[in-house]
Amino acid sequence: MDSLTASPPALRRLKLDQALALLKQAGYPLPATRELGLETLQAIIDGLCDLSLRDALTGLANRRHFRAALERELDRVARTGESALLLVLDIDHFKRVNDTLGHEAGDRVITTVAQRLTDCVRPMDVVARYGGEEFAILLPNCQPTFGPLVAERVRRSVESEPVQLAHGQEVRVTVSVGGAYAPQWVRSSASLWMERADLQLYCAKTEGRNRVCLEPTPVSSVSSEEKSMLFGVSSFAELRELGDE
Ligand code: GH3
Ligand code: MG
Ligand code: MG
Repeated sequence: MDSLTASPPALRRLKLDQALALLKQAGYPLPATRELGLETLQAIIDGLCDLSLRDALTGLANRRHFRAALERELDRVARTGESALLLVLDIDHFKRVNDTLGHEAGDRVITTVAQRLTDCVRPMDVVARYGGEEFAILLPNCQPTFGPLVAERVRRSVESEPVQLAHGQEVRVTVSVGGAYAPQWVRSSASLWMERADLQLYCAKTEGRNRVCLEPTPVSSVSSEEKSMLFGVSSFAELRELGDE
């Protein structure tokens, strides 16, 4: 690292020392070479890009990365009519864990849940930490007949075993899961999709937690917001006016 930061002043202004320190702290392998060539710079840029898409505690996709994945998937579903499922998950009564066992134990619960979620889905699915103790999973190409099975498997993977904490302690946790399918053949937005899934999560919480609530099928009705995205105008009246021009 020293040899890299001892580079010419113009390159030093790129703040390479800070970039390398960030990568080192996050456990990324540092460039082995003493030469600051294009390849080394590219490796540093790749590392920083990857870092900017991950959640620091769990290593899962962060909210920014996840939103971009949702937008891409919406485009694909609108084009192909395939089915895609979005699950949102929230750890039940998580405040109790922090309050009774401490913040460090809370962090341990979050990282364990993250690992269990990753282990029970396909490599093509995107698992994200969406907020404090909230997660989201994007399941491309997931038919409505399989959705409930997958969501239930995800829920069970969390409650299956207690989370191991320091000093031999352990704690059992559960998650509530809400899910919604991407609207087919319609241009929608990540926010509208998330809202639908969040509504289902709210149902799972109010119905008693540690359960799954899913929209039964992909929605085929189109909200006025989605209509405007489809036509690029805010109303059918406006569309008619455009036609008259
Ligand atoms: P509910 O079943 O309704 O979801 O109850 P809850 O106790 O889980 O309620 P809520 O979602 O409001 O609590 C979330 C808590 O998560 C509050 C916050 O202090 C804690 N939290 C958020 N981020 C972190 C984190 O990174 N580490 C730890 N240890 N706690 C966090
Ligand atoms: Mg929460
Ligand atoms: Mg919670």
